[in-house]
Amino acid sequence: MKTLLSLYLVFAVILTQFFSAYLFSKGRTSYRKAFSALVLCISIYLFGYLMIINSDNLQEMIFWNQIQYLGLPFISVLWMMVSLLYTKTIYSLKMRTALLLFAIPVMTFFIRLTNPWHQLFYTKMEMRQFFGYYFLYMERGFWYYVNISYTMLCMLSTVIIYFTGYLKNKAGYTKPHFLVFFFASLLPFIGIVLIIFTYAKWSIDYSALIIPVSVLITSYGVLKYDFLEIRTLARETIFENNYTGMVVLGPGKRIIDYNKAAEKFFEAINISLNHYPIERILDREPKLLEIFESENNRDFSLVIDGEERFFEIDAVPLGDQNDGNTRMLKSIRDVTEERKVQEKLKFLATVDSLSGLYNRAEFMNLAKNEFAGAKRNDEELALLIMDLDNFKIINDTFGHAAGDEMIRRMGNIIRTSFRKTDIAGRIGGEEFAVVLKNASLEEAEKIAEEFRETVANRKMIYGKQEISITISIGVVAIRANAHNINDIEDVLKMADDALYKAKSKGRNCVAIWSS
Ligand code: GH3
Ligand code: MG
Ligand code: MG
Repeated sequence: MKTLLSLYLVFAVILTQFFSAYLFSKGRTSYRKAFSALVLCISIYLFGYLMIINSDNLQEMIFWNQIQYLGLPFISVLWMMVSLLYTKTIYSLKMRTALLLFAIPVMTFFIRLTNPWHQLFYTKMEMRQFFGYYFLYMERGFWYYVNISYTMLCMLSTVIIYFTGYLKNKAGYTKPHFLVFFFASLLPFIGIVLIIFTYAKWSIDYSALIIPVSVLITSYGVLKYDFLEIRTLARETIFENNYTGMVVLGPGKRIIDYNKAAEKFFEAINISLNHYPIERILDREPKLLEIFESENNRDFSLVIDGEERFFEIDAVPLGDQNDGNTRMLKSIRDVTEERKVQEKLKFLATVDSLSGLYNRAEFMNLAKNEFAGAKRNDEELALLIMDLDNFKIINDTFGHAAGDEMIRRMGNIIRTSFRKTDIAGRIGGEEFAVVLKNASLEEAEKIAEEFRETVANRKMIYGKQEISITISIGVVAIRANAHNINDIEDVLKMADDALYKAKSKGRNCVAIWSS
């Protein structure tokens, strides 16, 4: 009996020593460090017990019992800390709380150490014989009960923490961990209960017998799951803290899971998420419901804090789609900033920065569309090409910066002089073009003449100098479906010919195209 028990304990001590060292070597997380310390304390405690049952005099026994108490008081509190650290999601352990939890164990440690003087822990210690071996019989003092109560409390909390973790775990794939650790913690708890009620009679330390089994189960759990744990935790963290809102819909379009960002999105429209079917949650928001039930990607906009924000709501199918059950991940991405940048880029790509008019490429695009439209509807279309006169001389006389400023002001004059529906662009250095919709030749000529006058009469002050600017304009008006005109390039060429005519007539005048 004694040999068997000794062998068992030797095995347990080796196991715990090895496991403690192993965890310590892998102790990157605080949970593993605490775990390593826990297993070391267990090892010391078991070793003490091994030595006690192999002692044959009281002095030795008392000495080894004292050794046991180097580790014993800390086991339960460490066990609880490990559970708190392991199930992080339930309660995050603060440093101060952690230290406070150690208050009673540390006191126990010192009270046991100084027991010979006050006998608060054991009132009496003697050697007894049982089944042919000696054991240490002790009568319990006041602090012994304080300690055992605290131990029970810690172990009970641990069991509850793991069980809560098991119940609360939404995702499901970490569930087995919690169950394994739940059972591993339940065993020593039972051991302590047995000690309290039967020790006086049998004097067997049930905890010492049970704990190795518990450590074995825990080792199995750690080896099997712990390496997955980091990955699972990483995935959960990514899901939970993603800027993209995520809602997982299961069979019956019931909400299975969602993250913080999704919660925030729905808070903006005063909807709180829970695990009901989506149609019940969104019954006040038919448009959004339609989007969330859809298996396609959709856009949605929402005014939040007085600002319109744009969202892309995408659907990703999950699992087998053929069993008739919906399983999908709806992601909600705020694309407001992206849209703003896109708009800005589009603006920069289509608008000439100096004049503020369309650049050549965009002007050609829009003019082409206009030409096609006019052709379809058999409408008239007029085009003006305008070139500043003797601009080289202006540059030479007043400087290039002055020339730039003139081009900028021309942009302003053009923008304010034509109709909103007309299309105006800067198509060359100091050359502009305007498409006049639905304008006959007479109208176009009149508009051109008015514009020429506007420019000629505008006082252009640059610094202290007055710069006189004039412009020559070539005008063409066509019926877009006339046979010999194929596209806008042809029209442009005709207006250019007219402009050439205006220049040769002496500038600051309007010329119309004629064959
Ligand atoms: P014309 O009356 O025949 O049009 O005479 P011009 O001097 O204007 O001749 P042309 O149209 O051939 O030359 C345009 C000049 O405009 C050439 C260049 O120095 C100047 N220019 C073109 N783009 C810019 C610009 O962005 N800024 C400035 N400051 N000058 C420009
Ligand atoms: Mg010119
Ligand atoms: Mg020119």
